Amino acid sequence: MQDKRKFYINGQWIDPSTPSDLEVVNPSIDESFAVISLADTKDTNEAVEAAKKAFIPWSNTSKDEKITLLKRLHEIYESRWDDMSKAISMEMGAPIDLASEQQTSTGSNHIKTFIKTLEKFEFENNYDEKSDNHIAYEPIGVCALITPWNWPINQITLKVTPALAAGCTMILKPSEIAPLSGMLFAEMIHEAGFPPGVFNLVNGDGTGVGTQLSGHPDVDMVSFTGSTRAGRLITKNSADTIKRVCLELGGKGANIVFSDADENAVRRGVSRVFNNSGQSCNAPTRMLIEKSIYERAVKEAIDQANKTKVDLASRKGDHIGPVVSKAQFDKIQNLIQSGIDEGATLVAGGPHRPDCLDKGYFVKPTIFTDVKTNMKIANEEIFGPVISLLSFETEEEAISISNDTTYGLTNYIQTQDNDKANRISKKLRSGMVEINGNAFSKGTPFGGYRQSGNGREGGTWGLEEYLEVKAISGWNL
Ligand code: NAD
Repeated sequence: MQDKRKFYINGQWIDPSTPSDLEVVNPSIDESFAVISLADTKDTNEAVEAAKKAFIPWSNTSKDEKITLLKRLHEIYESRWDDMSKAISMEMGAPIDLASEQQTSTGSNHIKTFIKTLEKFEFENNYDEKSDNHIAYEPIGVCALITPWNWPINQITLKVTPALAAGCTMILKPSEIAPLSGMLFAEMIHEAGFPPGVFNLVNGDGTGVGTQLSGHPDVDMVSFTGSTRAGRLITKNSADTIKRVCLELGGKGANIVFSDADENAVRRGVSRVFNNSGQSCNAPTRMLIEKSIYERAVKEAIDQANKTKVDLASRKGDHIGPVVSKAQFDKIQNLIQSGIDEGATLVAGGPHRPDCLDKGYFVKPTIFTDVKTNMKIANEEIFGPVISLLSFETEEEAISISNDTTYGLTNYIQTQDNDKANRISKKLRSGMVEINGNAFSKGTPFGGYRQSGNGREGGTWGLEEYLEVKAISGWNL
């Protein structure tokens, strides 16, 4: 059992003031392999105090010095790639190849991309050459960074790197379910030589440390990624101290497949949902298929689901692993059952674990057809390998079904008619629209409309989240 009870505060690993153990479970085998401690108010306050003290010197640190430290961090990150992949795989169940090639790699890419963004970013400019006005972008202050378990190092690096680059100081509270990748990242920050107090890490749950941070008078901003449920609570708890609250929340993406879509469109959409065992906020979990190709698309989708292997996270290969926890497993099973009870047709997968696995939180790759828009499975974020197939007849109907959700994170369009794709992309109420499987470039903004949140992470947009804008008149150069 790995002992991971310490917190990283003011440049040191320190014991919790009152130990409160929580075991970290390997979801493939349902066994604990590490223990962390949940912080109490005293620990949280110490971390905030350290960040507050470090703020003025760090905010005045030159861009060049920050770039040097971030480049060092990136080198260390690359040198500990396998440790990071193993930590992620064990704590949240991503198969080891996926953990390395998709999860660990996002962390490296984000650090690299934010270094480039920082190099180019102008922290001061003259708003209008004819006037004596001047604009300065300044770090917002002490930031609480609260992250989930599904792409753990992706979200940590998407927050910590721009916060460091902006000149903010911070307290990271990683998910208590998958805290080890965050703790490993804290070791890297330490080794890179960031000054004490600039970055702090306390472990804890939402009702404990999460709530202490969002209500803390000395925290200026909360950047949160997680469920819409927690996003609401954080927003309310931050209101008394008027913090900036940046939210990256859930999603229920639509994938509109027209009859002229490319031949891989259906399989690509299905695989996209099953990747990471369905635990991605931007998964296209509602596939909307043009009626004229519905039957063929259903056959392809079923075939793709039946070809998707499920296996232990420790095994190499392109299978999917377990879902993260017993709570997630139970939630997904209940939603699959609700699909059956509400009259959708189960055509692949279904309840219970796959026959070949007798323990662990494994879910069968599942497909429902004949899904109606009022069913639970068409509305709730399932966060498992479950996809709903619906049909449409006209472009307007497809747009209307896509937008008929409280979420608005990512929608997808499959057609070889570029004008149609462009036209529809502007009518979809979401922060991102992906056309024909074309990947987003590094540094494009990631975030949602409506109850998918209000933040934009990545690139210049991600850096600006951590900056205040100051207007100065009478500025003489
Ligand atoms: P969660 O909301 O349960 O927990 C996320 C984090 O918030 C954890 O660190 C948790 O301890 C903390 N937390 C929980 N309640 C809190 C509270 N009241 N106050 C402060 N902190 C609190 O979410 P999860 O189950 O870890 O992650 C899955 C969710 O995250 C899904 O809904 C998914 O869509 C969403 N997500 C969104 C994005 C995005 O960028 N939009 C990315 C990944 C995941």
